[in-house]
Amino acid sequence: MMTASTDIQYLKGVGEKRAVVLKSKGIDTVGALLRFYPRAYLDWTDRVKIAEAPFYHECCIRAKIITPIEESKKKAGMVIYRFIIEDDTDRAEIVIFNQRFLAQRLREGREYLFYGKITGSFIMRQISSPLIMETGFSGIQPIYPASQSLSSKATETLVRNAISASGLPETLPDEIRERNGLCDIKYAIENIHFPKTPEALERAKNRLVFEELFILQAGLSFLKKHSRGKAGCGIQNSFFEEFQQTLPFSLTAAQKRVARECFEDMSSGRPMNRLIQGDVGSGKTAVAAALMFAAAKNGFQSALMAPTEILAEQHFKTLCAITENSGITCKLLTGSLTKKQKTIIKTELSEGEIDVIVGTHALLSDDVNFKDLGLVITDEQHRFGVAQRSRLSSKGENPHTLVMSATPIPRTLGLIIYGDLDISVIDEYPKGRQLIDTYCVDSSYRQRIYNYIKKFLNEGRQAYIVCPLVEENEMMDITPATEYYQRLCEGEFKNYSVGLLHGKMPAKEKDRVMRSFSEGEIQLLVATTVIEVGIDVPNAVVMVIENAERFGLSQLHQLRGRIGRGKYKSSCVLISDSKARDTKKRLEIIKKSCDGFKIADADLELRGPGDFLGSRQHGLPDMKIADLFANRDVLRLAGNEVNRLIADDPRLQNPQNAGLRAEISALYKKLNSN
Ligand code: ADP
Ligand code: MG
Repeated sequence: MMTASTDIQYLKGVGEKRAVVLKSKGIDTVGALLRFYPRAYLDWTDRVKIAEAPFYHECCIRAKIITPIEESKKKAGMVIYRFIIEDDTDRAEIVIFNQRFLAQRLREGREYLFYGKITGSFIMRQISSPLIMETGFSGIQPIYPASQSLSSKATETLVRNAISASGLPETLPDEIRERNGLCDIKYAIENIHFPKTPEALERAKNRLVFEELFILQAGLSFLKKHSRGKAGCGIQNSFFEEFQQTLPFSLTAAQKRVARECFEDMSSGRPMNRLIQGDVGSGKTAVAAALMFAAAKNGFQSALMAPTEILAEQHFKTLCAITENSGITCKLLTGSLTKKQKTIIKTELSEGEIDVIVGTHALLSDDVNFKDLGLVITDEQHRFGVAQRSRLSSKGENPHTLVMSATPIPRTLGLIIYGDLDISVIDEYPKGRQLIDTYCVDSSYRQRIYNYIKKFLNEGRQAYIVCPLVEENEMMDITPATEYYQRLCEGEFKNYSVGLLHGKMPAKEKDRVMRSFSEGEIQLLVATTVIEVGIDVPNAVVMVIENAERFGLSQLHQLRGRIGRGKYKSSCVLISDSKARDTKKRLEIIKKSCDGFKIADADLELRGPGDFLGSRQHGLPDMKIADLFANRDVLRLAGNEVNRLIADDPRLQNPQNAGLRAEISALYKKLNSN
C-alpha cells in the first residue's frame, strides 16, 4: 500500500536515478510530490483575439494558418519556420525554431490553438515558438519548475501517478473547513495540479493558502510556548548611573526610556521577551550594552549575537570600551577563531569566567554552554531564523531575550514573527546628528563626484562607493565592484588608499579590510551591499551608490545609514541613468525622507512585498503557495482559528487533529534546521 509517507523511489515511474533528482529538490516522499505545486498554468480555455492580445503576455489564440509554412536555414543546423495566422480580428506571424516534426504536421488553411508570448508590433503581432494544439483541446495545464534533469512534462506524469496511488491525510478539522468555506484536501490536491475549471483551481488555491498559513502560525505558537511562563532571573537596574559614566556621550531620552522598559521586564520575575525597533543610527547598541552591563553586575552572563563577523567584532570593541574598568570580562566568539582559542573560550563560558560574550552563529553550536546565562540579545534579528533565536535562549534557564532590528515590518507580519513579543521603539536620534543631504544624479556627474570625494579625503574624512554586483554580467550594464575598484586604484584615486569589500571574499579578508577602514588606513571603500548592516565608522561622510535603481528603498536607506554617524556633515549621492518613471519616483522618496518607517511603507507600495518579505528578511521558511502580504486577510483568519484550536486541544491529541499534528512537526524540523 502506498501512502503519503512512502519513499518517492517506490512510486511508479521513479527509478533509483530519478529518486536522487527528486530528493535533491526536497521531494523525498509521495506526499511531498503531491505538495510540489505547479508554478504556473497554461489555460487553454482562456482565449483572446489577435487584435486584443496584450504585448509581452502569454496568450492563447485560436486562428487559421493562411500562408504556406516557409522554411529558411540560418546557421549550420538552425532551421526557422515562418507563417501567418488570422482570426476574425487581425493577422499575426508565427516563428518556430528547429522543431521540424511540429512544423511538418501543420497544414495551411486549418485552424489551431497557439499559446505563447506576444511580441512584434501593432502592424504585425508575432509569437515565437508557441505551443500548438488542435482546436478540440481544452483544459488547464500545470507548469512545474523544470530543470535539465526533470522536465515539467515528466513531473506532470509523476504527479498523476502519485494522485492515483495515494492521497494526503486531511490536515484541517471539518469544523474549521466548514466555518471558512474550504474544500477538502483530496479536492484541493487534485485541482491544484489538474484543475477542471478556473473556479476549481481557485477553490483549491484558497484552501491550500489557508492551510499553509494555518500550519505556519500553529507551528510558531508551539515554538513560542516553550519560552513562556516560568520565572527568569532578576536583573535590577541599580547600576545605570555607573554604566552611563562609561559612555563618551549621554543617552538620549528615547534610549533611556527603552532601557527602562527593558529593566522593568527583567526585574518583574518573568522572562523578558522584547523587540527594540529603531532606525539606523538611533543607537540600539548602547541600550544593549546597558542591559548587559547590569546583567553582569547582577551576577549573570549575557550573550549578544550578530549576523556577521564584522558586526560582532564592532560590538565587541564597543563593549570592551564600556566594561574595561568595571571588572566585567568580555570576550568574542566567531567562526574564524582557531580551534584552540574556541576551546578556551568555551571552557571559560561554561565555568562562568566570562560575563559578556559577543559572537556570530558560532554561539549556537552545541558545545557552547553557559554557567548562568541570564540575557540573550540578537542584533539585526531579521537576519536570523525564528528557531535560531530560541536555540540560543535554550542555553540558559529562561533567560531574558531582546531582539534589535532596524527593519520596520508591516504590522501583520510583525505579529506572526514576533507574536507575543513586546515592542519598544527608539524614535529619536542622538543629539548633534546632522541631517544627511541626498542627491540624485546621472553618470555624467561622475567626475565631479570623484572630485567631491577627494575634497573630503583630503580633509581626513572617509567615503564609501557601493556597487550592486560582484560577478560579470553581460546582460546588464553594471560595473562589477572588483573591476571598478581596480580602475579607481590605478586611475582617479591612485594617490589615495582604496579598499575593496564584497560578499564573496573570505571572512578573514573581509575583516582585515573592514578593520583597516575603521582604523582610517583605508580612505575610500568600494563595496557591495555587505556593508548594509550595522557598520559604524563615524569618520565616513560620503556615500556614493552606483546603479541606485537596482536597490530597494529600504536597502538604500540602510546603506545611507552608514554615514552621518558622527559630528560631521554627511552626504549621499545616488547615481542612476535609468529613465524609468518609477525609478525617479523611488529615488525622490529617498532624497526627501530620512524616516525608515515612511520609506519602508513607500517601498512596499511601489515594489510590492516580494523582496521585502523574502525569507532572508524574516527567517521564516519559504511559503509554497501563500503570500504573507497579499494573503494577509487569510493570515488573520487562520490565526484566529489557530487560537481557537489551541484553546480546545492544546496538545493536539484529538484524533481529528492527527494530520495537522504531523504537518506541524514537519514544519518544526524545518524551522530548526534553518
Ligand atoms: P544602530 O541603532 O543603527 O545600531 P548604533 O548603536 O550603531 O546605531 O549607534 C550609532 C552611532 O551613534 C554610534 O557611533 C554610537 O556610538 C553613537 N551613539 C549612540 N547613542 C548616542 C548618544 N546618545 N549620543 C551620541 N552618540 C550616540
Ligand atoms: Mg546596529
